Amino acid sequence: MNFSLATVERNGAPLGCMQRDGRLYALAECGAPATVAALFEDWPRWAAHLASATPQRALPDSLPLLAPLLYPGKILCAGANYHAHCREMGVADTRKETQRLFFFFKPPRNAVVGPGATVRKPLGTQKMDWEIELAAVIGTRARNVRVADALDHVAAYSVAIDFSARDFNVAPETFYKLDWVAGKGHDTCCPMGPRLVPASQIPDVQALHLRLSVNGETKQDDSTADMIFSVAEQISTLSRIMTLDPGDVILTGTPAGVGAPKGTFLSVGDVVEVEIERVGKFSVTIQPEG
Ligand code: MG
Repeated sequence: MNFSLATVERNGAPLGCMQRDGRLYALAECGAPATVAALFEDWPRWAAHLASATPQRALPDSLPLLAPLLYPGKILCAGANYHAHCREMGVADTRKETQRLFFFFKPPRNAVVGPGATVRKPLGTQKMDWEIELAAVIGTRARNVRVADALDHVAAYSVAIDFSARDFNVAPETFYKLDWVAGKGHDTCCPMGPRLVPASQIPDVQALHLRLSVNGETKQDDSTADMIFSVAEQISTLSRIMTLDPGDVILTGTPAGVGAPKGTFLSVGDVVEVEIERVGKFSVTIQPEG
């Protein structure tokens, strides 16, 4: 039976849940480990267990959602990986053979938050920007895997936002010219949600519609079909750089429609809503810097 995974807050603490037919059940009530993170100690076993679990007592609908996975082991993010987004950022030739996969890190415990009033503006930025991303959660250890085998290592998918401070990402006074930690590594700037959907329920990960709006105005509206490097190619390439462990998360790039090319950036109080077909939707409200 189909299920997804979520984490809610109950009595001030996170509670891992299975969602089925719109209702939430505590993982412990399903005979599984109590947190979503613990399922990744043996994902094949617990995925099979949950698919056949028949919990009885649903949780109340009123419990607030947190990020579904607290916390990923590592978060790797692909940069500039959609054709139209590369064009809007000034890349004239986006043919695959002229491109190279590029990744950066976000800090899991400090950056991952759930929906709601959770995201703080990075200190001092005038150019806070949005990027909707399909997030892939690793389910089994991947080291030097072939593209053809790469998706077998994905446990689930979720929706993430890669918030950045564009003004701190550029560093012309340095030898490197770019500073990915200062531009992308801020606390609370990797919301994820609303749930993890097992990969077995996503028939074609390269044909998912993504949409992001700011205060109700659609900014990004595209398909994962526009990726330059597929999710499988990203996992294969990463797995040759480092071992990917269960519970690691890969943000797979963002489509066109970010703020930078138009000089439009986020302000305190703005509401950013994201939705990916078959995976879900959530929103966050930008809080004062801190
Ligand atoms: Mg990004």
